[in-house]
Amino acid sequence: MAQEDIDLIQAINTQDPPVVKVELVNTIFDICRSMSLWPMTFGLACCAIEMMAVGMARFDIARFGAEVFRPSPRQCDLMIVAGTVSRKMAPCVVQLYEQMPAPRYVMALGNCAISGGPFYFEGQYGIVEGVDKMVPVDVYVPGCPPRPEGLLEGLFKIQEKMTGRRWWPMPKQGEAV
Ligand code: SF4
Repeated sequence: MAQEDIDLIQAINTQDPPVVKVELVNTIFDICRSMSLWPMTFGLACCAIEMMAVGMARFDIARFGAEVFRPSPRQCDLMIVAGTVSRKMAPCVVQLYEQMPAPRYVMALGNCAISGGPFYFEGQYGIVEGVDKMVPVDVYVPGCPPRPEGLLEGLFKIQEKMTGRRWWPMPKQGEAV
């Protein structure tokens, strides 16, 4: 953030009463963003089939606002690394991440993306042993493959990280959030 922006925010915050509650606006933006995450259309191996399944009627990721899979990283704020990251593919993954606008989030879906999975063994030379060696990961969803419900749980965790509270399942009336 530029210094003049910081000065402006400080000036606004020190007024009494404040003209604009920046914190409140940020909170509203965070909630709106978390309920409309746009994932990248991007799959590397078998785990991508599970990712496709969450878009179908049975799991229906649209219920949580994240069904708009975008073909361009410039329109995405969620990268789901679904599958084995080969060393050949690694520079492309980093480039796609760098082309995403901030704030951006990364989910490592499946054992391959987390640690190399079944392809990790001594002497192997073709697989990156965890996508977090290349890009920052916000949530890890284990399994080989993870169930689509696992992906949804990862999505809820990212929403929780963005907003500071869990949204799903919705709390019953009178229940603490
Ligand atoms: S974790 Fe298992 S299912 Fe997923 S990409 Fe690796 S081998 Fe395939």
